[in-house]
Formats: sequence, structure tokens, C-alpha cells
Amino acid sequence: MKKFDLIVIGGGSGGVATANRAASYGARVALFEKSQMGGTCVNVGCVPKKIMWTAAHLRTCIDDAVDYGFQVNTGYHDWNDLKRKRDAYIEKLNQGYENGLNKNNVTIIRAHAKFVDKNTVIANSQSYFAPKIIIAVGGRPIYPDIKGTEYGIDSDQFFGLHEIPKRIAIVGGGYIAVEIGGLLRSLGSDVTLIVRKQKILNKFDSILSDNLMSQMKLDGIKIEKEKTIQHLDKQVDGTIDVHLKNPQVLEKFDTLMWAIGRKPNTDILDVAAAGLKTNGDGSITVNKYQETNVEGIFALGDIIKNFELTPVAIAAGRRLSDRLFGDKPQSYLDYENIPSIVFSHPPIGTVGLTEKQAIDKFGISNIRVYETKFTPMYHAFSAKKSTSVMKLVVEKSKEEILGIHMIGIGSDEMLQGFAVALKMGATKADFDNTVALHPTAAEEMVTMKESRDAQL
Ligand code: FAD
Repeated sequence: MKKFDLIVIGGGSGGVATANRAASYGARVALFEKSQMGGTCVNVGCVPKKIMWTAAHLRTCIDDAVDYGFQVNTGYHDWNDLKRKRDAYIEKLNQGYENGLNKNNVTIIRAHAKFVDKNTVIANSQSYFAPKIIIAVGGRPIYPDIKGTEYGIDSDQFFGLHEIPKRIAIVGGGYIAVEIGGLLRSLGSDVTLIVRKQKILNKFDSILSDNLMSQMKLDGIKIEKEKTIQHLDKQVDGTIDVHLKNPQVLEKFDTLMWAIGRKPNTDILDVAAAGLKTNGDGSITVNKYQETNVEGIFALGDIIKNFELTPVAIAAGRRLSDRLFGDKPQSYLDYENIPSIVFSHPPIGTVGLTEKQAIDKFGISNIRVYETKFTPMYHAFSAKKSTSVMKLVVEKSKEEILGIHMIGIGSDEMLQGFAVALKMGATKADFDNTVALHPTAAEEMVTMKESRDAQL
């Protein structure tokens, strides 16, 4: 039996950050990773996605460049060349993660770990003991239980494609579906989004989902709303037909991608052996200190299904290690007002309560909404048009800002500073008292005049 102060299961965003921070305090740490170092974000999430998004963004910039006096043609895009360079970049990141862990004297065990009891895990027939175990095993994409489900790929496999799909169906209306759909459309694919509900991005403020849907349609993305898939068929030419329940058939896709959600990886961890309870979807419930129902076992990151984002997993892990090994007994992550970005075309930034959440929490008569809609100067000047929309959700009495929502070019880089303001309790008056930066889209955030009562 090998003994450590801390065992971390999962070498993704949360696990690596937790292990490094604990080791920096002198803890003897073992980290288990069954696949590539860095987890979802580095290998099949944020990093390759942002590279693809940037390629797509460049493609639209090249198109717009003509309006700014450049004599350029968009030319041929070599998808496979980009994939090769992207993979090489990711390999460097994998190595970087490993080097960082080695530098901190974390023992890396490249194996699939399973619980034996609450203090012991087993991997490759070797047992490992620690009084504290942190679960940061993330999740994996879900496939529906229907005939032909295997003809579809998932977002992990999307990053393995060697050529751009010519005609793709993407099933799902969450952020992964709209991000991949958007970037593929900009790079030249014929994209159809198949969604179960009336809208995409259902959990987001309605201005974001409504405006993104309009922009996607303008860009040529087909959105099949309120559609449920019955089964998939593969034709002799290799194309996929999508049979809907209504009944209708959407024909001849060369690729179909499932983006219908992710499943926590607890089912491959033998959590029951440790007496650990999971929820129906496999997620683990924790208190504000990331503690599970079993003393000495903690969980964080995607596995707890509370803001499934890389910086959240990292922040939770570092604070937990600060508390357990760094003599900071009050250290924990506050999950209120966490900002997030959707790398759609154009991008979305959002933090705090949506209009509906604010109404539910404070009552409709206590909420005021400021809104602005405009054409950003970049597109006012170009042939292609886009609309930017911003919304501030405020509590009426002191006009404290409860939610900030924006869609439009630049939103991805604009939100962070405004998220600081919201976290500090800024009011609409604070925004009004801040001198605008001109000419930018951001200045609209501090010059909003039009307001209305909240509405459902
Ligand atoms: P993961 O990063 O998933 O790491 C878990 C690790 O545990 C994996 O490496 C896995 O191999 C390992 N593991 C699992 N079981 C075991 C076991 N039994 N033994 C050993 N190892 C095991 N977030 C953002 O903030 N911004 C984005 O732009 C963004 N884009 C995304 C795009 C896509 C397509 C996807 C899928 C996700 C995206 N995310 C984004 C989410 C982000 O990737 C996750 O929130 C983050 O990776 C979660 O970190 P984690 O440590 O909880 O899990």
C-alpha cells in the first residue's frame, strides 16, 4: 500500500490545480489520470474550441476586410493543417501540465483509479491510501438511447475530424451546440441545428437566445425547433437521415453531432465502495467546502454540476487546498455571480441573474431593466451587418445591478471587468458615473438610458 496525504482523482482543470496547490504547501500528493493530462478543457474543450472559433472569426474578418479597402480573396482554408497545428499546441500544453506537477513533486499515476474504501483507491492492481481524497473526474458526452445513435459523433470526436463536414446536423441547443454550429458555418459548412425546445440556450437571458437565434438564421444556419429524433438511418452512400417523431425526415447529412448533455464520470469510479452518494444523473452533491457525504472525500469541477467551467473547477480546487493544507480554514469558493462566455458568432457574455431569475427572487415590481440595441461600428461600416444587444437587470430601490447580459462582437473580452463591478455590488449610478470609452461597444454599458419594468 502506497501512502500519501492527498489523493486527487482526475488530471483535468480542477484536479491539476488542486494537486499543485496542495503540494506547494508540502503535502504528499498522488494524482491519477487515465487519459491525456489537462482533461476536457485542454484536449476536447475550451482550448481546441477557441482555436477553431478564432479560425472562424478570422474567416469572417477576411470577408469584411474588402469593405476596409483590402484587395483580398478569402481563399482556401486547410482544415487538416489547422488540426495538425492545434494538436501540436495541445501536446505542448499536456507536457506543460505534467512538468508543472513534477516540479511541485506531485506523484503522477497514469491509470484509471477506483475506490476500494473511503481512504483507499486501486489502480493497475496497486492500492493507494490517503486520509483525504478529492474527486475531480469530470464528465463525458451523452448519446441518446435510440436506433442508429452510433451514426452520430460527439464533441470529443468533433475535434478528431480530419476534414470539415460539408453538411452537418447538430442535435442540441446548449452552448456546445451553438458554438460548434457557429464556427462550422463561418468556415463553410451547411449547418442544421435540431433542438427539442422553442429556443436555444434556454438557461440564458431571453435577449441572448432570441438575438443569437436571429443572427444564426441570418448567417444561414437552419434551426429545426421543437423536434425530437426518433431514429437515425445510414444510406449506402454513407449519408445519415434523421427521422423525427412528427414524422419528418431530414436527409443526407454527412455528419451528425450529438450535443445533448454530459454525464458525470462517477459510474466508472466505484463510488459506492466508499459509501459515497450520487444523484440520479451521477453528479455528487457537496456543501460550500466541497465536502461530500463521506468525511475526508471532496468533489469539485464538472462532477458537482454547478457552473461546469474551467475557472470554476480551478478556483474551487485551489481554495480547497488552501483550506486543507494552507492554514486558511475559511477558504471556499463563492458560486454566486460567476461570469461565463459563449463563443458564438457573435459572442455572448453573461453574469448574475437573468430577468426571469431576478423576478423569481425579488418580485416583478422590484425589478427594472435597461436595454440597448445597436449596430457595432465595425459592422456599421461593412456590408455584412450584425446587431449588439445589452441588458442590465437592476433591483429598483437602490438600482443595484443584479445581472449583465450582452451579445455582440467584443462581448467575450468585455465582460470580465463588468463582472468585477457586479461582484462588488455596483449600482446603475456607478455605471452612469463612469466616463465612456469612445468609440467602442463597451461604452454602451455605461450610457444606457432606456429602461422598462421587468416582464415575464
Ligand atoms: P475534466 O477537465 O473533465 O477532467 C477530468 C479528468 O479525470 C479527465 O482527464 C479524465 O480522463 C479523468 N478521469 C475520469 N475518471 C477517472 C478515473 N476513474 N481515474 C483516473 N482519471 C479519471 N469551460 C470554460 O470555462 N470555457 C470554455 O470555453 C469551455 N468550453 C468547452 C467546450 C467543450 C466542447 C466542452 C466539452 C467543455 C467546455 N468547457 C469550457 C468546460 C470545461 O472543459 C470543464 O468545465 C472543465 O474541464 C472541468 O474540469 P474538471 O477538472 O471538473 O474535469
